[in-house]
Amino acid sequence: MKAPHEYLSSNIVLIGYRGCGKTTVAKELSALTGKPYVDTDDLIKQNTGKTIAEIFCDEGESQFRQYEKNVITELAQQPPEILSVGGGAILDPKNVTNLRTIGTIIWLQATADELRKRIEQHEATTSDRPALRGDNPFDEIANLLAERSPFYEKAAAHIIESTNLLPATIAKRIVELTNS
Ligand code: ADP
Ligand code: MG
Repeated sequence: MKAPHEYLSSNIVLIGYRGCGKTTVAKELSALTGKPYVDTDDLIKQNTGKTIAEIFCDEGESQFRQYEKNVITELAQQPPEILSVGGGAILDPKNVTNLRTIGTIIWLQATADELRKRIEQHEATTSDRPALRGDNPFDEIANLLAERSPFYEKAAAHIIESTNLLPATIAKRIVELTNS
């Protein structure tokens, strides 16, 4: 018999560096609670008919940021119960304001080493995101993570150190957080 769904007492917004597990945890949370999840990258893909990698290549990062900002503005009008957001969105304060109106923001933290492993593993199965650039992907991740961490921390209501946790465990912890 299927277990009863867990109750989520507020909408959840997942933020964090690319590869930290936002989409994976959003899916787990959706399975656990029976609520649908929305992913900003998915909406941008639907709206443009392009992959994120194609948008970066054809139109540039600033155009991607504009699409992302538009999507987040629209979502604030009709908040989804579970939302995962692209890794750079919180650099824009308007996005953070909108995300706060959508729900409880949770930063899925992970070490640069773990992020590199997860991104490389993910890239082996999908070419959806811009490839890691440069000769040393670890340095790129470590530098960007250091640059962005203060923004993630400031935007988040809760931080979950995800490096050694399974996605299903993280989803359970999020349910507990919102009910405590
Ligand atoms: P994001 O949406 O934050 O970019 P994804 O959810 O796409 O990240 O996850 C990136 C990769 O890392 C995927 O291959 C996924 O299976 C893996 N992954 C996600 N969360 C975890 C975790 N907690 N532990 C181990 N691997 C994970
Ligand atoms: Mg994702």
